[in-house]
Amino acid sequence: QAVLEVIGLKKKYKDGTFALRGIDFQVKEGEFVAVIGPSGAGKSTLMRCINRLVEPSEGKIYFNGNDMMKANGQKLRQHRREIGMIFQNFNLIPRVTVIDNVLNGRLGYTGSLAGALGIFSRKDRDFALEILARVGLADKALKRVDELSGGQQQRVGIARALAQEPKLILADEPIASLDPITSENIMEYIYNICREDGITCLINLHQVEIAKRYATRIIGIREGKKVFDGTPDELTREV
Ligand code: ADP
Ligand code: ADP
Repeated sequence: QAVLEVIGLKKKYKDGTFALRGIDFQVKEGEFVAVIGPSGAGKSTLMRCINRLVEPSEGKIYFNGNDMMKANGQKLRQHRREIGMIFQNFNLIPRVTVIDNVLNGRLGYTGSLAGALGIFSRKDRDFALEILARVGLADKALKRVDELSGGQQQRVGIARALAQEPKLILADEPIASLDPITSENIMEYIYNICREDGITCLINLHQVEIAKRYATRIIGIREGKKVFDGTPDELTREV
């Protein structure tokens, strides 16, 4: 069962930059796939095309069998709710509490007026607290996120993604702003949670060593093209 299928994906930005030159791959349920490649290879563009934060120029994207290119309005919002995003720079709301940032991931999830107004039920708050406990931040729920360290902020980022109850997590260089020890810690959280919850994960990394250690499969991108697709072992033999 493919959670994600990308066919002939191309992206040319308005300024003429060819960021993606025809990318094809499938991701099966439960896979933990690292996308590696040098800066400017197109990793971030690829990720943003998948949930259409960036509009692809050509190609097809199927999420859970749904044609993402044809999805609009309500349908697109529904698919996006099932795709949790984790960013390099965390993308949290700075002057707001940890729990409210996590509940922000729940926003729109409920689809109700209360949800849209940011008024959450007791059940939603308890759910958010449970998720925070999983990332070791139960005691930080009422702190402002800008009072936290980078690693703690990224754990809030993970919790926000989990609050969406995603089927797929897209993590765009989630450890690029963190020191090596904190990076390991964050990778452990992402990897373990995805495994425990059966969440499929596509993660952009520029550290090949870390990709080899965690990923079940590695996709190599260079100049907008796929140049490698295999297991970490096969990558070792290739390099
Ligand atoms: P990576 O994530 O692998 O570093 P990106 O997807 O960020 O690669 O970038 C791929 C290429 O597209 C680069 O040449 C980059 O400068 C270019 N690019 C990225 N975003 C834009 C944009 N909004 N407008 C124009 N060019 C862009
Ligand atoms: P990344 O670490 O993702 O490669 P960049 O520093 O390349 O980040 O890009 C930062 C932001 O600027 C991104 O939103 C990217 O889409 C945009 N960007 C990158 N290159 C260009 C470009 N040539 N023209 C316009 N926007 C760009």
